[in-house]
Amino acid sequence: MNYKLIPFLSILLCSFMLSAQQKLPKKKAQIKKSIENHQSDLIGISDAIWANAETAFEENESSKLLADYAEKNGFQVERGVAGMPTAFVATYGSGKPVIGVLGEFDALPGISQKALPTKEALDEGAAGHGCGHNLFGTGSLGAAIAIKELIEQGKIKGTIKFFGTPSEEKYFGKIWMVNEGLWDDVDVNISWHPSAEIKADTQSSLALVDFKVEFFGQAAHASADPWNGRSASDALELYTAGINYYREHVKPTVRMHYHIQDGGQVVNVVPDYARLWVRVRDTKRSGLMPVYERVMEMAEGAAILANVDYKISLISGIYELLVNRTGEEVMQKNLELLGPINYTTEEIAFGKKIQEVTGKEQVGMDSKIKPLEDTKEHPGGGSTDVGDVSWNVANINLGVTTAPKDTPWHSWAVVACGGMSIGHKGMLYASNAMAMTMLDLFEDPKLVKSIKDEYLERKGKEVYKAIIPEGPPPIPTK
Ligand SMILES: [Zn+2]
Repeated sequence: MNYKLIPFLSILLCSFMLSAQQKLPKKKAQIKKSIENHQSDLIGISDAIWANAETAFEENESSKLLADYAEKNGFQVERGVAGMPTAFVATYGSGKPVIGVLGEFDALPGISQKALPTKEALDEGAAGHGCGHNLFGTGSLGAAIAIKELIEQGKIKGTIKFFGTPSEEKYFGKIWMVNEGLWDDVDVNISWHPSAEIKADTQSSLALVDFKVEFFGQAAHASADPWNGRSASDALELYTAGINYYREHVKPTVRMHYHIQDGGQVVNVVPDYARLWVRVRDTKRSGLMPVYERVMEMAEGAAILANVDYKISLISGIYELLVNRTGEEVMQKNLELLGPINYTTEEIAFGKKIQEVTGKEQVGMDSKIKPLEDTKEHPGGGSTDVGDVSWNVANINLGVTTAPKDTPWHSWAVVACGGMSIGHKGMLYASNAMAMTMLDLFEDPKLVKSIKDEYLERKGKEVYKAIIPEGPPPIPTK
């Protein structure tokens, strides 16, 4: 080796790497151009959804903004699918393959925030996009439109479907859409989620069941004639004590939460009514079900102790996510092709300010492409109704940086970033990564087959059954 050549070779290597990142194959360059052409509209839609911040099943304006833009761009839009006014499917093209992409758009109550790096409500007490779903829905639609344009120009053949999926944060709208068979003709589905890092997602999520427990007693004066009363809130307290004792005897993968929704109104009345929302999670649905049964049984015990009646109602439940490594490898290649997100000095300062205010190390943004991880048998983290989709069609998942490293999720800090350029950059990056991955699927039937084969193998013999109560979805009545 001639050592004098090393600097020359390294310059050559660097310039090669640079050109590899910058020079995209022709159709992928067209995708990038399409997303650039729609960029100002997409940012406008995302910002409008961000400012509206509509919560579960009340996302009327947000759903309409996305569905209208899909329609304006030539998609056939079916609104109000699966009994949910804000759910819709936008379709373009015909024949195989059929590729789906998910778009969420609901906000979280009580975390309204301005696009500032310090806590300041936009509208005190109102909702905010603390999970970045304004970016999620809009970014996915940007990807669907880029693919639609390639189909329209005759460069690829097949069908693209954008699924407008409401109420991810509360009732899990996708379950009703899955139950309606909306993914039955889809070959591969793609999804992404706002995050504090960029990675092709090779980890599952937690399965869960939500149910409501109500106790019914007898009201009485709390001091004058308490012997005439039977307290529903006594039962509620005994019930939560039971759950808390039970924590010691469940596997470490189990999570149990409850939210007291009604524990009585005033101190001088023995409450005749109490209600709580209970959630049980585990890494697999199979591990979850016995814990769920046990936690339900405890309600009877509490009711006997307090001499009251009780009622349990299923709200809904979701499956753990089925990972598809074959699909994630395709996504990974596209992330490497796109390279990291570049941030301005102002954006880095914005990120560091959020880290300072939330007591985190001030390291700024993390936009490097993470290597593909091994899939863990028991991952931590949250749950998503994308899990139910992934039991009905092969699914590829992506996380893209839309907030600084270590940002507390479901908080004002995520809302802040989702309403400014850090969020917008992540959203447009996700549009590119998903559209480029979809393009690879449209162009390679063998790849689609191997992704579907892995899906069938992971699903095995388990038969999917949606965990929902009888009747229509719980749409709030005004
Ligand atoms: Zn989310």
